[in-house]
Amino acid sequence: MRKMYDQIVIGGGVIGCSIAYQLAKRGYQVLVLEKDSVASGASSAAAGMLGAQVEFTQDGPLFQFARESRQLYPQIEKELFEYSGIDIQLIQKGMYKMALTEEQLNHLQQLAAFQKQFGEEAYVLTPDDMMAREQKVSNQIKGALHIPGDGQVSAIHVTKAFAKAAESFGAEVKENTSVEELLIENEKVSGVVTKSETFYAEKVVLASGVWTKDFQRYFTKDTEMYPVKGECISVRPDQPLVEATIFSEGCYIVPKKDGHMIIGATSLPYQMDKKVSAGGIHSLLDKAMYLIPEIKDAEIEKVWTGFRPQTKDELPYLDKVDEVEGLFIAAGHYRNGILLAPITGLFMADLIEGKAISSVYQEAFSIKRKQNTYV
Ligand SMILES: Cc1cc2nc3c(=O)[nH]c(=O)nc-3n(C[C@H](O)[C@H](O)[C@H](O)COP(=O)(O)OP(=O)(O)OC[C@H]3O[C@@H](n4cnc5c(N)ncnc54)[C@H](O)[C@@H]3O)c2cc1C
Repeated sequence: MRKMYDQIVIGGGVIGCSIAYQLAKRGYQVLVLEKDSVASGASSAAAGMLGAQVEFTQDGPLFQFARESRQLYPQIEKELFEYSGIDIQLIQKGMYKMALTEEQLNHLQQLAAFQKQFGEEAYVLTPDDMMAREQKVSNQIKGALHIPGDGQVSAIHVTKAFAKAAESFGAEVKENTSVEELLIENEKVSGVVTKSETFYAEKVVLASGVWTKDFQRYFTKDTEMYPVKGECISVRPDQPLVEATIFSEGCYIVPKKDGHMIIGATSLPYQMDKKVSAGGIHSLLDKAMYLIPEIKDAEIEKVWTGFRPQTKDELPYLDKVDEVEGLFIAAGHYRNGILLAPITGLFMADLIEGKAISSVYQEAFSIKRKQNTYV
């Protein structure tokens, strides 16, 4: 007799694994199919910042969604450790956004006012204040915005922890299994077809990151997903140089728990080749060494690329697909998928179960939405 799953999730990135975790925890029989290995896509390339404030300059549903997701992280850290044994390396030491010009400093002042308006902490620091907190930061800066609430995790650990925790609740995770087609009967999904097997389920979730566009043929609304390639470097200084994440125009430096620092990231729309360019690395190192001069003595560990799944209006698609009953989409988290993973898992599990969900989020993240005017 053929095995019937409640849900099949296509994609073992942070989004697919978070959804699988929430569904498995609620008692469903879940299957995750991953074409390579868990966390082999954007979710292993990410720096892991939880930039719910640093990334946003405007109010809107995504800003709210992001802050709610950030708030979930301390509880998710505990749960994932309990059910997977993996430490997701949550660091809650805040972030500093640097101003290198007077114009940028003015902008940071406006940002601080905007953040305070929404009840968030954000303080503009003088260069002396900044250097009293992080001594290795350049004395050339004009000031900084301190955001105590934004933290960071290890992206790859979070993704693997979600997958393992899902398995602890009975989910199956099959790697090296690429979904080639969906099985659709009478406009209703009934499973998926891989190169060697067919798997059956009542519901299917497309959580395939930038590759979700490969499934565009199953719905009429153009989801307009495209890659934004990002290059990163990992360096290891002899001694820790900073405690908190340092962020500036076009460059961030994220100090990790084990002593290495991730420097990122370039932003190259519509590029999807794995090449790490000399120019990209040069420009990142140049900016990073300007911010923290002692980075020049750090050992370069590795360089890599990843592909952010971007949509035309920078909002993810979290919705059911009207044309095919039982088909769902959770993709397009662009540069904030690690931050948004906890809330996306909960939101999608509620949507799939048919529970009440926020009408604001439903409308904002719908596939049928009109072009977004707020981010
Ligand atoms: C350089 C860089 C830095 C970033 N930094 C941050 C950060 O600091 N903070 C943050 O919040 N976000 C960050 N992001 C964004 C974040 O990485 C993404 O938004 C997030 O990882 C997207 O997760 P995902 O699960 O949707 O996609 P992915 O992680 O790409 O996962 C999709 C998975 O689906 C699989 N798949 C595709 N097609 C199929 C198929 N047909 N069958 C089976 N499996 C399939 C893929 O192999 C892949 O593993 C960064 C991204 C990049 C590239």
